[in-house]
Amino acid sequence: MPGWYARSFDSVRGTSTVSQSLQGRTIAVFGVANKRSIAWAIAQRMQEAGAQLAITYQNERLKQEADELIATLPNAQAFQCDVSRDEEITRLFEALKERYGKLDGLVHSIAFASAEDLKAGFVDTSREGFRIALEISAYSLVALARAASPLMTGGGSIMTMTYYGAEKVVPKYNVMGVAKAALEACVRYLAYDLGTNNIRVNAISAGPIKTLAARGISGFGEMLKEQSERAPLRRNVDVNEVAATAVFLASDAGSGITGETIYVDCGYNIMGF
Ligand code: NAP
Repeated sequence: MPGWYARSFDSVRGTSTVSQSLQGRTIAVFGVANKRSIAWAIAQRMQEAGAQLAITYQNERLKQEADELIATLPNAQAFQCDVSRDEEITRLFEALKERYGKLDGLVHSIAFASAEDLKAGFVDTSREGFRIALEISAYSLVALARAASPLMTGGGSIMTMTYYGAEKVVPKYNVMGVAKAALEACVRYLAYDLGTNNIRVNAISAGPIKTLAARGISGFGEMLKEQSERAPLRRNVDVNEVAATAVFLASDAGSGITGETIYVDCGYNIMGF
């Protein structure tokens, strides 16, 4: 039984003081493009919960904007990493090891598909478009988990962002749906491999949220409207609700959960009609 569990759960009285604090934890966050990014809300809520953050941006072109944004968050530092380049991943984790010594969490909030592949029919997906979407949106989780796990010497929590289009057809989500299906399978296989080191791996399946990536999906406005009308809560999810779930998963409160896809979608996924 892990030490924290014995300390925080009194089996005689049945009371629990399991904490959602991230005090003293270091977490790497991938996928902050701007203030609207889901990763930015997660970074803010994690920082409020006490975490020290390493936040990455993709390339030199985005450096200035990312640096300015990340500088507004206390206890956060910016690093560059394009997840399609193995050498950049290696360099990043060497820098993280040198700067922090260990890691307690990793947030993967990254996806990419070419604009044409999100407009035409799925049947027209090109070989190259398929490869890029799967590589950036799914394989990158495997590459990051492999690089991060040696730094998670005290256990850890890795999480990624997925969407319902992984399991049901969402017209125009196309190859991204296939990439998310692969991503969710990667979560389960990684959870099995890394569980022996007390590293948990989970996916958060968020309802639609207006972000830069979402704007690339044709008919996104319709998705928002449909979701808000049909979801049991009769509204769209707020990005801070997604971020709160990320904090929970990174904390001791989430310590028994691994390999799961957790829906934060106002219940939309339970509906049949
Ligand atoms: P976003 O702000 O555009 O974030 C997507 C991020 O992926 C950007 O920071 C982007 O960086 C990064 N990225 C793409 N290619 C990269 C690469 N090669 N190396 C490093 N970073 C790369 O949009 P978001 O909506 O917050 O998306 C975050 C995650 O949530 C995605 O996995 C998305 O599929 C998922 N999600 C979103 C919704 C939604 O409705 N918004 C719902 C469910 C799940 P650059 O901008 O610098 O390219």
